[in-house]
Amino acid sequence: MQNIAVIGAGTMGRGIAYSASVAGLSVIVQDVSDTVLHNAKSDIEKKFDHAVRKELLSKEMAEDRRSAIQYTTELSEAAKDRDLVIEAVLEIMDLKTSIFKQLDDLTPPHAILATNTSTMSPTEIAAQTRRPEQCLALHFFNPVPKMKLIEVICGLETSEETINKAIAFGESIGKECVKINEFPGFAVSRMNCLIGNEAMNMVMEGVGSPEDIDKAMKLGLNHPMGPLELADLVGLDTRLRNMQYLYETLGEKYRPCPILTKYVNAGRLGRKSGKGFYDYT
Ligand code: NAD
Repeated sequence: MQNIAVIGAGTMGRGIAYSASVAGLSVIVQDVSDTVLHNAKSDIEKKFDHAVRKELLSKEMAEDRRSAIQYTTELSEAAKDRDLVIEAVLEIMDLKTSIFKQLDDLTPPHAILATNTSTMSPTEIAAQTRRPEQCLALHFFNPVPKMKLIEVICGLETSEETINKAIAFGESIGKECVKINEFPGFAVSRMNCLIGNEAMNMVMEGVGSPEDIDKAMKLGLNHPMGPLELADLVGLDTRLRNMQYLYETLGEKYRPCPILTKYVNAGRLGRKSGKGFYDYT
């Protein structure tokens, strides 16, 4: 799979586009917003600059790869001639299903359609298409260039051929894949959202400060990041949508912590807004 489209140029879309481009694939990035695309381009260019500074890429290679990435607001432009489309828009089921429906009409028949959802059902999303056997979830992790894992989530109808091609794609961009059968939250989000939510409950109950709770997990359990720092990195709005979906599908123990809802309502979205459990300004 040489020609890749990434739909949604937010936190995840940027990282996926960068990683696929560095691996030599042809990449086009689509978003509905010109401003987002502009910011995505400058963010991706910073990632190339960083890689050159760290001597991970030569200057020439970085220039060649960065100039090859295309950006568009048109879904039809992004979808044509692609072998693989990775959707990374907001975690909203109706939005994802509507995009998959359009992608089914706009991509060549051989194309594989993947969603980067953290929690939701690829089977439900694939059901909007005439090619559910060529649909699956490819769950990347944040920040994509650094994180080695892709969870390859098989929906009810996903074919073995699609799974094998998806794993080959993941490996071609330097990732390691685990194959997971679809269930809400897959493997990582199901555990991680619960840990993060419990940490938020503990902040709300006055058990400890965010700093001390994060420090306890880092030094006590050897987690590289504390659960609250990680939630801020993910984006509290994205995390709240994840929790709401898991609460609807898996029940009471996933009820979103009220402090998470309060922060999102106040516009405290974590790193991307400058404030979450920590202040980034
Ligand atoms: P984000 O809010 O940073 O970006 C979402 C992007 O989608 C925005 O740029 C928005 O303009 C764009 N968008 C909205 N409607 C669109 C449309 N109709 N067509 C094209 N683009 C559209 O979100 P994110 O954190 O990048 O998350 C994207 C997906 O990845 C979600 O499903 C999320 O659950 C999943 N995910 C997130 C993380 C994380 O740490 N943030 C990790 C793994 C998976």
